[in-house]
Amino acid sequence: MGISEQLAIVRRRIAAAAERAGRKADDITLVAVTKTRPAAMIREALDAGVTDVGENRVQEALAKKAELDSAGLKPRWHLIGHLQGNKAKQAVQHFELIHSVDSFGLAREIDKHALKAGKVQRILLQFNISGEQSKFGGAPEEARELVRQVAGSCPNVRVEGLMTMAPFSDNAEDARPWFRGLRKLTEHLRSEFSIGRELSMGMTGDFEVAIEEGATLLRIGSAVFGTTE
Ligand SMILES: *Cc1c(COP(=O)(O)O)cnc(C)c1O
Repeated sequence: MGISEQLAIVRRRIAAAAERAGRKADDITLVAVTKTRPAAMIREALDAGVTDVGENRVQEALAKKAELDSAGLKPRWHLIGHLQGNKAKQAVQHFELIHSVDSFGLAREIDKHALKAGKVQRILLQFNISGEQSKFGGAPEEARELVRQVAGSCPNVRVEGLMTMAPFSDNAEDARPWFRGLRKLTEHLRSEFSIGRELSMGMTGDFEVAIEEGATLLRIGSAVFGTTE
């Protein structure tokens, strides 16, 4: 099956899950994850209506972005993988939304480069679970502290919301408590801080559950481009 057919299937599944959840499919953005895929495949996805592209690594993304830029193709680029401080400058130059900000140090580095670039960098704060259930629900002190620091001392950064990755599992339902936890965490944080309502959660194996739990950004690779193995 080609990319446009796979994409049509994914879009139907998104629409069905949104309907089940009483949500509008238009409120949910599909970020096509293109890591390890060549620029030609990204072009095919853009031809088929993809507007948002997610890459894990700055270096890999830039090579492909340069190729697409020169063809006049300008999707919104999302950085979804771990970002090292020494790549923050490039990340700020090239990505519309950085999903993977997981420390105050990194946020500050991004803030510094955003100031120099004369831009307000949109970011998400990533909270990973790694068995630490205590990070979610209740009073997630660590999360609160990170948001407080970033909101208080990074004026060139705008926290648009939160991101998570559920632990790997063959059963999509296993992801539900994590996704629900992230949504509760957002509600909790939004009652205190002025942050956005984006929730980046849900991948090929669990995006329907993520939609039911309130995801606004889905990061989907294999369901669109096939498996790499
Ligand atoms: C690879 C990746 C995805 C997409 O994974 P699929 O299972 O192929 O949909 C989503 N988010 C992150 C952070 C990734 O690294």
